[in-house]
Amino acid sequence: MIRILFISTRKEKIDQYISILSPKYEFITLASETNILDSINLAVPDIIILDTNSGNIDFKNLIKKIKSYTDNSVILLLTAKNFNNRDLIKNANAFLQEDFTDEMIVNTINMNLRMRESLARLSNTNKDLADSLYRLNALYSTSSQFAGTLDKKKLINFMIEGIDKALSFSLTCTLSFCTENEPVLLINSLYELSDEILNALKLRTIYQYKSLFEDKNLPYEVNINNLKTIKHIKYPANRFTFTLFQFDNLFSPITLGDNFFGCVEIFKDAPFSAEDATCFRTIAQQVALPLKSATLYQEIKETNLKLEKLERLKSEFISIVSHELRTPLTSIKNSLDILLSGRCGEVTEASEKFLTMAKRNVQRLSGIINDLLDLSKIEAGKMDFNCKNLNINQVIEYVKSALSIVAKEKGLTLLTEENKNLPEIYADSQRLEQVLTNLVSNAIKFTPEGKSIKIISELKNFDELSINPLFQNINSKQKGEYIVVSVKDEGIGIAEKDLLRAFDKFAQIENSLSRKVGGSGLGLPIAKQLIEAHHGIIWCDSELNKGSTFYFAIPVAKNNSDKNTENLLLSR
Ligand code: ADP
Repeated sequence: MIRILFISTRKEKIDQYISILSPKYEFITLASETNILDSINLAVPDIIILDTNSGNIDFKNLIKKIKSYTDNSVILLLTAKNFNNRDLIKNANAFLQEDFTDEMIVNTINMNLRMRESLARLSNTNKDLADSLYRLNALYSTSSQFAGTLDKKKLINFMIEGIDKALSFSLTCTLSFCTENEPVLLINSLYELSDEILNALKLRTIYQYKSLFEDKNLPYEVNINNLKTIKHIKYPANRFTFTLFQFDNLFSPITLGDNFFGCVEIFKDAPFSAEDATCFRTIAQQVALPLKSATLYQEIKETNLKLEKLERLKSEFISIVSHELRTPLTSIKNSLDILLSGRCGEVTEASEKFLTMAKRNVQRLSGIINDLLDLSKIEAGKMDFNCKNLNINQVIEYVKSALSIVAKEKGLTLLTEENKNLPEIYADSQRLEQVLTNLVSNAIKFTPEGKSIKIISELKNFDELSINPLFQNINSKQKGEYIVVSVKDEGIGIAEKDLLRAFDKFAQIENSLSRKVGGSGLGLPIAKQLIEAHHGIIWCDSELNKGSTFYFAIPVAKNNSDKNTENLLLSR
């Protein structure tokens, strides 16, 4: 029932208002200002009516006193006609001048009560809005923190900080399986905890965890003995008692699909609202995705480390074995040379045939060993490059003079089309000779008798290179001018499906000729590595049974002592 406190020294007025208002309202009267605060305290009135025509009361002071004590009550002044004490009117909620009717006073009371109610509702809504905004902010800043790290410990800590920011807990228990190699119970508490409470929290968490899986197998075995506890106490001077277990609490697993990362429970000495619960679960769920990414990242890092180690071991193995093979091979080759020279006795026609065959195979074997050594050096980043400014045509001339005879022996014509006045490139001539020798040797190997092979050198802009789209992703793309060398043959060609594979280590494209002519399958991968070490691009166009063209392009030196490419030994 609405309660009215009526302050007046006029007995007849008091009786009048009691008769008007008492059937609907509870009516308390006071004839002086003494004890006013006690009366307010006891009665908690909704309306305080002040009869300003009462003598001996300082209403200005009285209103001040009431207002400093409570702002919950509506203050209504009843005044004489022509009353114009602005100070009083300003501080009251409403006033009625004499000759007001009974109806007017009832209406004024009702209207002011309704207004008070609306104001209270508005202020509650405002408070709710401010709370939601605050929580949204906490969620937002927590999720930004999640996005910034792949460290699982940090992620769990960000989650706890986020929950604290949004809900300000008294204590949290976070069971986590992802931060160490054992189950960890992380306790963040406002106050210190006795060993008994700590044990009770441990048992409770284990129970909560197990109840998540009911009859199903647990993802991790957890018991009181293997559960490691880490405590963070904010105010260690105070202690929680067992009443902690009567606090309101919320619990949530931290999962993503089938991935289980742990669970978290929070306690607070005030009730959680439905929004608190939603916010809490959102944060606990939000952390699962970055935890999953962090797990994958860690796995990839570990796999990479293992692969790097294997790669290193493999390179070391190749390098040791190749060195060990090279020495006896040189000795065999020298012995064969001596035998073939006739210095150890006459060489019959038959033995010359076998000795020559042996020498050819020894040469092939040492070629393969050299290739293996080169590749392992490049891959280990240990190959030395001796770069200087040079004209590519010198390289072409060298290779032409070295291989013309071999081509001729096979009935092939080796042609060149060297563009004059080409700008220089900054490169290691020996390494480029090695690349070009390999490309021309392959062309000779895979081109039938009577046909021709052509080496062309020209200057092109990056945009004019027309790199086979198959190779565009695997080559670096730097704008600018390039010297392009192409080796064009009319040989057996390579099917499109095999083109990329030709540059893989030990690749030999399945065809009768490849098998017959043999090879290490290392020439093209070495060429690719060497060209890319020069910041160049290598690619190939080919058509089965028509022929292939292998290209490599090296950037033109920017000036005579182009320091940009000086360190092209290659920061691997
Ligand atoms: P190999 O020492 O076996 O020639 P490469 O790495 O130089 O190793 O070449 C790999 C494979 O690519 C060759 O075995 C061959 O099948 C194919 N190939 C390379 N060059 C040509 C070419 N000019 N014509 C046809 N096939 C080629």
